[in-house]
Amino acid sequence: ALSQAKKSGGNSLVCFSPAMTEQIQQRYALELALANAVTANQLQLHYQPQLADSGDVIGVEALLRWQHPELGAVSPAQFIPLAEANGQIEKIGDWVLQQACAQLQQWQHDPQFARLTMSVNISARQFYLPEFVSIIQHYLQHFQLAPELLILELTESLVLANLDDAVAKMEQIKQLGVRFSMDDFGTGYSSLSYLSRLPFDEVKIDQYFVRSGSSGNPRDWVIVDAIIGIADTYGMTLVAEGVETEMQRQLLLKSGCRCFQGYLFARPADIAATESWIKSQSR
Ligand code: C2E
Ligand code: CA
Ligand code: CA
Ligand code: CA
Repeated sequence: ALSQAKKSGGNSLVCFSPAMTEQIQQRYALELALANAVTANQLQLHYQPQLADSGDVIGVEALLRWQHPELGAVSPAQFIPLAEANGQIEKIGDWVLQQACAQLQQWQHDPQFARLTMSVNISARQFYLPEFVSIIQHYLQHFQLAPELLILELTESLVLANLDDAVAKMEQIKQLGVRFSMDDFGTGYSSLSYLSRLPFDEVKIDQYFVRSGSSGNPRDWVIVDAIIGIADTYGMTLVAEGVETEMQRQLLLKSGCRCFQGYLFARPADIAATESWIKSQSR
């Protein structure tokens, strides 16, 4: 892959000296391969269902997958940070948004799927683009979407990095009817009190808390309880992610959580598998 990457050229920064560590070479090879991923049709969206306590599917989260012909499946945990660092995420993120909105449009014509929400992960570089509000507006119009079905997931570190700008931009987008979810809540630096200043409609408790809170030490669960209480106080929907066991679901339920996502229910899967899983649930 490396020699092929060199041949493809066009990038003056690429210079593989022997002194370079294997790691840096791999990083460049990955970046070059990723630059081609959108046009080479190597990206795909998978979808993971979110369920209410009744068992009804209420929405899905779109999760990006990259299948490279030689490298195989590359994890988003590996390539998203790279793409964020070098700016490729702007193009990739736009592709994700477009695909997710196109899927949402398809679902509007099918009564079985018409009420499902679509949650899309948005990275900082994408969000802070000056044209981001008009990009969202464009997709809403182009795909004729009910805006309240689109949920944008932002991390707290994204928002806190530039608090006033972020809040102003969120407010503009909320005027369009689109909703916001705070991803990975509890993993950043923010004090819980920040949440009151931020216009989020939904909070996702990170799987770290779901896992540690149910690991047997009741003191860990105090944090989960606190997060659920705060979300309640501010009228935000709470979603627990990474729910893997029935015990975790029971504990979350007891603490007042009403919305779940995790392997206990369904793993992220392609559109065909996701649709047939949702159909099998509603029988
Ligand atoms: P995330 O947004 O926190 O997404 C949740 C991750 O947890 C996903 O990993 C999902 O597959 C995984 N997961 C779901 N349920 C369970 C469970 O029960 N147990 C465990 N152990 N894991 C579970 P994935 O798909 O590998 O994505 C990793 C991260 O990459 C995402 O974390 C998100 O930060 C980023 N990412 C994925 N797709 C996109 C995208 O389209 N755009 C951006 N900007 N970032 C993305
Ligand atoms: Ca997410
Ligand atoms: Ca998350
Ligand atoms: Ca995460």
